Amino acid sequence: MLKQHYRDLVELPGVSAHEKLVRTYVKGMLEPLSEALFQDKLGSLFGGVNLAKDGPKVMIAGHMDEVGAMVSGITDKGYVKLIPMGSVSAAVMLAQHLDIVIDDGSFVPGVIGAKPPHLLRDGASKQVTDFDDFVLDIGADSKEHAKTLGVKVGQQVVFHNNYTITKDGKKIISKAWDDRFGTAMAIDILQSVDKQAIPCKLYCGANVQEEVGLRGAGTSAYMIKPDVFIAVDCSPCADTFEDSEVGGSLGAGFMIRFYDPRCIMHQGMKKFVEETANKHQIKFQYYKSLGGTDAAQVQLSEDGVLVCTIGMPARYIHSSTSMIHVDDYEAVKAVILAMLQELDFNKVAEIKSNV
Ligand SMILES: [Zn+2]
Repeated sequence: MLKQHYRDLVELPGVSAHEKLVRTYVKGMLEPLSEALFQDKLGSLFGGVNLAKDGPKVMIAGHMDEVGAMVSGITDKGYVKLIPMGSVSAAVMLAQHLDIVIDDGSFVPGVIGAKPPHLLRDGASKQVTDFDDFVLDIGADSKEHAKTLGVKVGQQVVFHNNYTITKDGKKIISKAWDDRFGTAMAIDILQSVDKQAIPCKLYCGANVQEEVGLRGAGTSAYMIKPDVFIAVDCSPCADTFEDSEVGGSLGAGFMIRFYDPRCIMHQGMKKFVEETANKHQIKFQYYKSLGGTDAAQVQLSEDGVLVCTIGMPARYIHSSTSMIHVDDYEAVKAVILAMLQELDFNKVAEIKSNV
C-alpha cells in the first residue's frame, strides 16, 4: 500500500495558481530530506541532495495543481458562477459536490444541480450541459448571503473527495491523482534513494500550473538548469472504453510516453529507460498520448534538456475522480530508482549521443 503522504496530498485542494496548501505540505516533507530547498517566483518547489557531488543534475518533478474551477461571480440569487481550471469535460461537472476554498482555508461546500426528469418532461426544457450555464449551489439565499459565508471572486473550487480503496485492495479511487501522485512520488524518491550510491545531484519536487499549459515547469527548469529531467505524471488509460487510439492499461506497468503532440521522447532517453526497465525486470507499456506533460516544456530550456515522462497509468483523470493501481506505483518507483543509479556524466553523454 502507499505511504500516508500520498493520501494526504490528494485530499488537499490545489487548482492551478492556488497550490499554496499543497506547497506548504510538500515543503514540510522536503525540508528534513534536503540539503537545500529551491522555490521559484511562481511557486514550484524542489529539494536538493548531493549538491556538492561532482555529477550531472537530475530533476524529478510532479505537478502540484489539479483540475477544478475558480469562482467567477455570484448571481443575485446567491448561486456561484465558475471558470474551469484545466481541461475538464462539462459532462462530468453535473451533479457533482464541490468545495470552494475561502480565504481562511476552510471549505464552503456546494453542488452543481442537475434538472430532475420531472422538469425536463415538457420537451422545451433541456439539461444544462455547458460550463457557462452551470451554477454551484452553496445554499446561499442571496448574493449578500454568499458573501457573508466568505465566498469571493477568484477563489478556487475543487471536487469533493471520496477516497476509496477497492475491495481487492489493489486500486485506489480519488480525485487529483493527476498529479499529486507525481508530487508524492518525488518525495518518496527522496525518502528512498541511497544518496551515497547515486552519482548525480538530485532535485525532487513539483511544479505549479501544469494543467493550464505547463507554465511552472518553464520557470523551475530555468532555476535548476537540469541535465536530465524526469516528469512523473498520470496518463489516462483507455482500457475501460472500446475503440480508443490512446491505449494504456491499469496494472500493466509504468508508461514510456514515446509520443505526445508536444514531446517526442528523446531517442537516447527512450533507449536508456527501456534498457533500465529490462535489466531490472520492471513492467512497462508504451503509451501514445494526446496531451502533454512538463517534459515538453523543459526539453526546450536553454540549449535543450534530456527529458522523459515516466507515466503512471490512471483511469478517468480530468474529472471528479480517478483510479490507480498499486502495482503501477511499484513500477514507477522502481524504474526511477534504477535510473538514478546509472546517471553519471558518462551515461548522460551516452544518452546525448544516441539522439
Ligand atoms: Zn498531470
